Amino acid sequence: MKQIIDSQIVEQADQLIQQSERIVIITHISPDGDAMGSSLAMKWYLQQRDKQAQVIIPNAYPDFLAWIPGVTDALIYEKNVEQGTALLEQANLIIITDFQEAKRAGDAIGAWLLANQAKEERTPVIMIDHHLHPSDLADITISHPECPSASELVYRFIHQLDPSFHQSTNSHESGASIHQFSTCVYTGMMTDTGNFQYNSNNPEMYEIVADLMRAGVDKDECYNKVFNQFHTGRMRLVGYCLYRKMRIFPKKHVALIALSSEELKQFNFQSGDAEGIVNMPLQISKVYYSCFMREDTDKIKLSFRSQGDRPINHFAHDIYNGGGHKNAAGGEFYGSLKDAVRLFLENYEKYCE
Ligand code: 5GP
Ligand code: MN
Repeated sequence: MKQIIDSQIVEQADQLIQQSERIVIITHISPDGDAMGSSLAMKWYLQQRDKQAQVIIPNAYPDFLAWIPGVTDALIYEKNVEQGTALLEQANLIIITDFQEAKRAGDAIGAWLLANQAKEERTPVIMIDHHLHPSDLADITISHPECPSASELVYRFIHQLDPSFHQSTNSHESGASIHQFSTCVYTGMMTDTGNFQYNSNNPEMYEIVADLMRAGVDKDECYNKVFNQFHTGRMRLVGYCLYRKMRIFPKKHVALIALSSEELKQFNFQSGDAEGIVNMPLQISKVYYSCFMREDTDKIKLSFRSQGDRPINHFAHDIYNGGGHKNAAGGEFYGSLKDAVRLFLENYEKYCE
């Protein structure tokens, strides 16, 4: 397997880990499969090195991730502010996974990271991420936007440090076995590629998958646990979106679905229910760009998807102060749903060629 991470950087990160007793791993707000997979896999590895490692997530994980090994040990910051802040203050090292700028860690942790960065005697930070435009938040930045998931990057990082680590089947005294680590990595790889539908043309990806399966990953079960766990309301919401709400702009190969909070309420909307809806219009022949937006408590949340060599992240970045990858991006809009739709209609022709 190619060593994509600069070996000097791996060595520097290794030294920091070596020197640190207490390590906090942070991932992004509204954590997805890759956020949970990459952070929990990293925690498992650090425990193998007898470190005190703690995952902190800004807010709760969705129900469809409640089964991931180790997930219940992740501290939900929003619900445990005091304990979370104490852990951050006491850490000798912070590792952030699956995000590249402070605001993606939510207001409170984001502010803590920025304040830490400004200190002369700060806690060192290692970033392991695959988004474009990494900020200078970290002391060691492992940023590979060409890597489909942060979980794969965590695997590669550890593999570069110790190519034989994955052959060990030893259980750590915490009970975290290689099987659990592998399930975390696999879940992140699976979810960030839509079950290997996109960003999944690198043959090495399947070498890693094979390795993870040899360590005991049941990939069919992972699929089932993540993708086949919806409640009835969510399925009816999908029907409503496709039948009643989807607008197609054929000239530019664009689809748009916009939902108000009243509509969401009708379907007993819960966190995670919007997952995957934005991808569906891309199943239509000659639809290459898709946007899904919905009213949230104080803002509009937007998801964008595109196909192949048609970037969508510039649209999310320029118009909705968001960002992301070439084919999968998102943003937030502080205003009415009507205005968010209006902005979309005013701009899509420019960004969707
Ligand atoms: P999703 O549509 O699954 O919520 O997000 C797709 C991708 O867009 C994420 O992996 C993340 O990279 C990016 N993303 C989503 N929301 C935001 C946002 O509010 N700001 C930025 N910068 N990126 C986002
Ligand atoms: Mn990711």
